[in-house]
Amino acid sequence: MKKVAFFDTKQYDREWFDKLDKSFEIKYFEEKLNPENADLAAGCDGAVAFVNDTINSRTIKILTENGVNVLAMRCAGYNNINFRAAHENNLKVLRVPVYSPYAVAEHTMALLLALNRKIHKAYNRTRDFNFSLNGLTGFDLHGKTMGVIGTGKIGQIFIKICQGFGMKVIAYDPYPIENPDFEYTELDTIYRESNAISLHCPLTRQNHHLLDSDAFMKMRSGVFIINTSRGGLIDSEALLDALKSHKVAGAGLDVYEEETELFFEDRSDTIVGDDILARLVSLPNVILTSHQAFLTEEALKNIAEITIANLEDYFAGRPLKNEVCYDCSDGGATTNCN
Ligand code: NAD
Repeated sequence: MKKVAFFDTKQYDREWFDKLDKSFEIKYFEEKLNPENADLAAGCDGAVAFVNDTINSRTIKILTENGVNVLAMRCAGYNNINFRAAHENNLKVLRVPVYSPYAVAEHTMALLLALNRKIHKAYNRTRDFNFSLNGLTGFDLHGKTMGVIGTGKIGQIFIKICQGFGMKVIAYDPYPIENPDFEYTELDTIYRESNAISLHCPLTRQNHHLLDSDAFMKMRSGVFIINTSRGGLIDSEALLDALKSHKVAGAGLDVYEEETELFFEDRSDTIVGDDILARLVSLPNVILTSHQAFLTEEALKNIAEITIANLEDYFAGRPLKNEVCYDCSDGGATTNCN
């Protein structure tokens, strides 16, 4: 029977992978996949990894030298993979292109609502029987302008949610959809006109730090920034400055550019050395969730089903419909992630 090394295992992942039928055996490891532990996969035929694993050329070399020729990502994004090294070492990379765009879009709106209506502050106050409303004033979303950057699967669902709230939506995407029921515009217009901006595009070499100090400068004062895409899309230091100067009125962040060593783990008994992150979370108008936008029952089930099907297709020599290949991955793959 084929064996698969499953890295970065959490109880909530394992539940569905254990429950579903599969034709291969899984060896679970809690460690994130990186060059220091890639040899745990020795004796396995494939590996499974996740968004914050370090899949650089060294990791890939160790995997393939140990006989692992397929890597099934149990996520949609693949910006943490060195595709040139994967190509050169004949490592097939598979992914789960869609598992629940609703999960992410709904979490995006949850962040915006919590930020705007100060739910996080109210929750803490009422637990202490403090029923004061001072400082909890929000604004109606109805009639306000939402700027959406990236109108793929998640972006389009988020746009519908915003329209349900009576918001005007303007959007930017280098590959616009046909017959949209919202308005496409340039990034500068989004910056100038939006009351809130939400990111729904992949992280690529071209859009790293898309929201930098220049972009924040162009935005209207009091804008809300929501990022459920990838941390590297925002220059965190520039965001912190924009929050401190009140240019940005609040930020809802499900991702952070230096999240790899922190997110998905309990770090409550350690001193976190990242001063920018520490300052961001200390602000009353920043809500940080640790890359949990995907985390619904439906998404976990779909991730397990599709990852199992991807690996079974590979082991059976069937066509790989969810392969990310080096030649076609120019939009999303980074090849310099050593
Ligand atoms: P998708 O591929 O369906 O859509 C992405 C869209 O972004 C496409 O329409 C593409 O044309 C557009 N795009 C590409 N480069 C762009 C740029 N520079 N500026 C603006 N638009 C650009 O992807 P999706 O399923 O909608 O997912 C979007 C992103 O959400 C993923 O790339 C991933 O980073 C993130 N994500 C986060 C979580 C989470 O738990 N937080 C879960 C899943 C996905």
